[in-house]
Amino acid sequence: MYADFIEQLREQQLVRKKEGLFRSRMVLNGPQEAHVSIDGQTFLAFCSNDYLGLANHSALIESVADGVRRYGVGAGASHLISGHSMAHHKLEEALARFIGFPRALLFSTGYMANIGVVTALLGRGDAIFADKLNHASLNEAALLSRAKLIRYPHADLSVLKKRLAASKAKLKLVMTDAVFSMDGDVAPVDELLALCEEHNALLLLDDAHGFGVLGKQGRGSLSAFEHCNIQSPNIIYMATLGKAAGVFGAFVAAQPEVIETFIQHARSYIYTTATPALLSHALLKSLELIEQEEWRREQLRKLITQLKNELQSLRWQLLPSDTPIQPLIVGKNEVAVQISKALYEQGVLVPAIRPPTVPEGMARLRISLSALHSEEDVKRLTTMLRDLAMNWE
Ligand SMILES: *Cc1c(COP(=O)(O)O)cnc(C)c1O
Repeated sequence: MYADFIEQLREQQLVRKKEGLFRSRMVLNGPQEAHVSIDGQTFLAFCSNDYLGLANHSALIESVADGVRRYGVGAGASHLISGHSMAHHKLEEALARFIGFPRALLFSTGYMANIGVVTALLGRGDAIFADKLNHASLNEAALLSRAKLIRYPHADLSVLKKRLAASKAKLKLVMTDAVFSMDGDVAPVDELLALCEEHNALLLLDDAHGFGVLGKQGRGSLSAFEHCNIQSPNIIYMATLGKAAGVFGAFVAAQPEVIETFIQHARSYIYTTATPALLSHALLKSLELIEQEEWRREQLRKLITQLKNELQSLRWQLLPSDTPIQPLIVGKNEVAVQISKALYEQGVLVPAIRPPTVPEGMARLRISLSALHSEEDVKRLTTMLRDLAMNWE
């Protein structure tokens, strides 16, 4: 039986290879930067979520060193036992203040935060309304909660409105990526919030790609919408700390009673070891850099404009996005893989994103920009893409 099972796995993997769906990992030898080292070769990388270029910032390295001297390495226990340190506590207060919410709670990862939030609040008899293009962690959270999952077409408010109105669920939650991770577009946050208020629904906003990047001083997607009532008690805000913030982790912000419910009931908060306090210590520094170094967001805006200009009228089209996530749609899986490979051979990393991460027939190159890229870096990429497009059979 065992040998059969292994043979079966091997066959499944062969099928994936034939379909151009097989995934493999690159091994980086050194820090995450605009240029990364793999197998002794240097690549220009357009594939990280380190949008502000903080993942290898010297001030963060310093504060990690300071943090480890103060708090040691491991947290040793979960937050509810004895793993909750002063660094975690201060960071929660600083994050709440930064985004203008009454209270925030750290989770180990964004994946765990989404699971914890949804399963702590909803169960059988409740309903979850989810954008079709949401991140996988939100969908998984909905399934785990046993609430009814109702998906609506991407950013389609009129369908969402009808489905909200038709629902007789006890508790309703609308959940959405604020910046869609594979498309780079921004959800109509203000209109979604108005709909939620009208229908007495909670709004879970996953700002993994907006926090630090969008809004005034990087305060995230909510602050990017001028007329959005951030004070609304309907909002539950989630953001990750391993992307623009350059470190690791995630947090949720909401009304104090909602946060207290997570501390009492969110299983992915309760039944896991706290992240090392040294990371929270470093994140306090990261938050300062996010707030103070506007040049990073300015540089991103400049590069986004440049990339869009230089890729105009190519046979492959960028999706309309004003964020550092710039997807170039090529359609077929094999084409995406071939372009990605051709770039790789010229020393440039851009990942091919294929189903099931994106819909069938919408394979793409997901170009992500960082404040550490230079105009020459972007020019190098766009020149290669133009050459490839011109000579494509
Ligand atoms: C990355 C991501 C997550 C998961 O966050 P991690 O901290 O990496 O676990 C959740 N939602 C979205 C939209 C993401 O892009």
